[in-house]
Amino acid sequence: MDKIKMTTPIVEMDGDEMTRIIWALIKEELILPFVDLKSEYYDLGLVHRNETNDQVTVDSAEATKKYGVAVKCATITPNAARMTEYDLKEMWKSPNGTIRAILDGTVFRAPILVKGVTPYIPTWTKPITIARHAYGDVYKNTEMKALAGSKAELCVTDKDGNEQRATIMEFKGDGIVQGIHNTDKSIASFARSCFNYALSTKQDVWFSSKDTISKIYDHNFKDIFAEIFENEYKEKFAEAGIEYFYTLIDDAVARVIRSEGGYIWACKNYDGDVMSDMVATAFGSLAMMTSVLVSPDGVYEYEAAHGTVQRHYYKHLKGEETSTNSVATIFAWSGALRKRGELDQNASLMHFADMLEKATIDTIEEGVMTGDMYLISTLEEKRKVNTQDFLKEIAKRLTALMS
Ligand code: NAP
Ligand code: MG
Repeated sequence: MDKIKMTTPIVEMDGDEMTRIIWALIKEELILPFVDLKSEYYDLGLVHRNETNDQVTVDSAEATKKYGVAVKCATITPNAARMTEYDLKEMWKSPNGTIRAILDGTVFRAPILVKGVTPYIPTWTKPITIARHAYGDVYKNTEMKALAGSKAELCVTDKDGNEQRATIMEFKGDGIVQGIHNTDKSIASFARSCFNYALSTKQDVWFSSKDTISKIYDHNFKDIFAEIFENEYKEKFAEAGIEYFYTLIDDAVARVIRSEGGYIWACKNYDGDVMSDMVATAFGSLAMMTSVLVSPDGVYEYEAAHGTVQRHYYKHLKGEETSTNSVATIFAWSGALRKRGELDQNASLMHFADMLEKATIDTIEEGVMTGDMYLISTLEEKRKVNTQDFLKEIAKRLTALMS
């Protein structure tokens, strides 16, 4: 069998701990036997980030801007314990934060559905993708306590020194105040990322906020979304047969519960934080959740939503058997290769990505799974396998599908 050729490289960002072990196995078992892989490799493992003073993270993000598609392994975000464990020069920042700051994007998270794992909401037969705005609001707030008798005011001074002032509250008893903000630029880039992702996945976009109560703040989000949609996306959506739909957050929650899934739910920062944990839990498992960062100019970075699975890695280091779920990392690879195929009009590469996903899902649906899935699967005939054997089982099915 001839290997599939690629014309443009993808950016490959290697990572840490158990996911780094899985990364190498996925390449060896599932990618390299079928694809003549072209990738520009960046080692984002903590050892190499420390050696390069984290320059490698910046370089990998710049390369992603250049090539348009990246696949990323989970990485350690250092804390005090990691400083000692890895003898770090500095407590390097979260690679995801650094990459997000350079690419300026929105994070989309979607569950991978398999037979045997039923969502807690039985009508959810298609995935619900949460698009979380990752800037501002309560995550960048200023807050204070106010004692009885104080007056809290909101004051904005423009560049010429003119003031807009309004009273927030005259406190009779003790209380609290909070100031938050967002920027039109960030909201616009959030809107474009959602609309681009909708076009690329052929799904409707729902956006929700509380504009009836927040007539300036939330209304500004609603207006920016509406204006960008009207001017830049309306026709493309019509051609693709998809819709943009705005509703109040409380109405959205009720509709989501009654829905069958299959759309992108764009959420303000706080709503996205809360709702993505609700949706992930209701669908079954964090190890079955994909995550992709989409920048407003259409650059894609695919990863798993979970971390480096540290506890399993320490077992692995002690020579004990592990049963770590590699599905989200496999789907990060298939997502990146499919997107590369789409951009390069490489049908064989896109087909390979589809078959890789099919082989993975077939494996689980035929009852072969890792420990985390074994615990929640309702299949009658099921078998728990270790990390390596799970990948070999997928490889067996993929070989059959590809020949
Ligand atoms: P984690 O790696 O997501 O793992 C937490 C627990 O969830 C695991 O101990 C395991 O439970 C279960 N789990 C997660 N993924 C699994 C998988 N693929 N297969 C089977 N079980 C899985 O989170 P963490 O242990 O809190 O964080 C470890 C490191 O990851 C940290 O250094 C953190 O900075 C980093 N992190 C990175 C990213 C990223 O790069 N995107 C995201 C989050 C965290 P059991 O132990 O019960 O089996
Ligand atoms: Mg959260």
